[in-house]
Amino acid sequence: MGLEQFKNRNVGIQNYTKLDVGVTPVTNMDKFTQVVKRSLKGELFVGLWVTLREMGKALFLNNMHTVKYPFEKMPISPRYRAIHDMLRLLESGSYRCIGCGLCEKICISNCITMDTRYDENQRKEVSEYTINFGRCIFCGYCAEVCPELAIVHGPRYETASEQRASFSLFEDMLTPIDKLNLQQEYDGFGAVSPNADDNIKQTPLAY
Ligand code: SF4
Ligand code: SF4
Repeated sequence: MGLEQFKNRNVGIQNYTKLDVGVTPVTNMDKFTQVVKRSLKGELFVGLWVTLREMGKALFLNNMHTVKYPFEKMPISPRYRAIHDMLRLLESGSYRCIGCGLCEKICISNCITMDTRYDENQRKEVSEYTINFGRCIFCGYCAEVCPELAIVHGPRYETASEQRASFSLFEDMLTPIDKLNLQQEYDGFGAVSPNADDNIKQTPLAY
């Protein structure tokens, strides 16, 4: 198959609109003539008019096409997989992680390191938990496998930092206790049911 045949081969619905792009100028005189022609046709002023019109809309009608990052941020998809968050139980404020180690085992980048110990009540607690974000590929397996919905991918996508260790400690990822009411819930096992308030029953008092 020749090159032309290859270009024109049938690769689906041939519904293209072909633009007349003209002849590319080669000599300096041709280039100068093209610039003069385009300027006299007013293309330059059309462009300037479009810029001024959009600037006026932004200034006087508040019709902006851009956001003032970092003061304004675009909403991200709820399925976006950003920096991990460790969630707390809404009722008690304790962290949800039970130290089962499933996330550490499933991590294909081998970037989760954790350790557990027994506290004074012989209950398991997480004594160490780190994620090496230099290695993490944000595959989401750890969040998928977690039986308690303890580790999730939160909405923090700004990962620039002076220190490689930033964001990676358990405490950094844990929902701050004073922001517990803002903690985002995800569907799945361990999540708060939509009618949780209706299901609450009054505890009968013994006295
Ligand atoms: S998102 Fe993937 S690579 Fe990153 S910590 Fe979780 S399992 Fe490991
Ligand atoms: S899978 Fe969930 S509960 Fe288990 S250790 Fe990881 S974060 Fe904790």
